[in-house]
Amino acid sequence: MQAISDLIRDVPDFPRPGVLFKDISPLLADADGFALCIEALADPWRQLGVQAVCGIESRGFIFGAALARTLHAGFVPVRKKGKLPPPVIGIDYGLEYGVDRLEVGASALRAGERVLIVDDVLATGGTLEAARRLVDGLGAEVVGGSVVIELAALAGRPRWTGATPLHALILS
Ligand code: 5GP
Repeated sequence: MQAISDLIRDVPDFPRPGVLFKDISPLLADADGFALCIEALADPWRQLGVQAVCGIESRGFIFGAALARTLHAGFVPVRKKGKLPPPVIGIDYGLEYGVDRLEVGASALRAGERVLIVDDVLATGGTLEAARRLVDGLGAEVVGGSVVIELAALAGRPRWTGATPLHALILS
């Protein structure tokens, strides 16, 4: 995992003072590193019959789409409010300051479909948990959650209330 960690850049004070931002752009730009990352992300889920990968806007689209291809699953975007055409179902979730909303197509997933939820970073955990609840609300079966980086200091893991695993490639 060191080879992958080495391709993630720490950017101090972005997007706000006091925030140490994990920039995944160098990882995406490195053909070997990106391929290694997708294979490693796929490993825990290969035998679990994942039928759809839900990637969270926007960096979750990049990893999620590649992972869907590797797992031979479909890809379903979970988007910020107002980006998907109707009909959609949505969920409001708390941010550090204020509220945001995630949406998914109302018929994007079938009841019982086995779904993996993917994002780049687990920070406070609110985004991934909101996506899990959204998918759960559609009647699909959440097989688990997968992120490239878990920011341990922000202690987001307990926010994931699913009984299914939450896997992080890199604990930072
Ligand atoms: P949370 O809801 O867990 O606090 O925040 C996770 C969301 O914020 C993810 O969608 C992720 O893309 C974004 N995010 C938070 N911190 C970072 C960071 O340091 N780097 C990147 N690339 N994304 C972040």
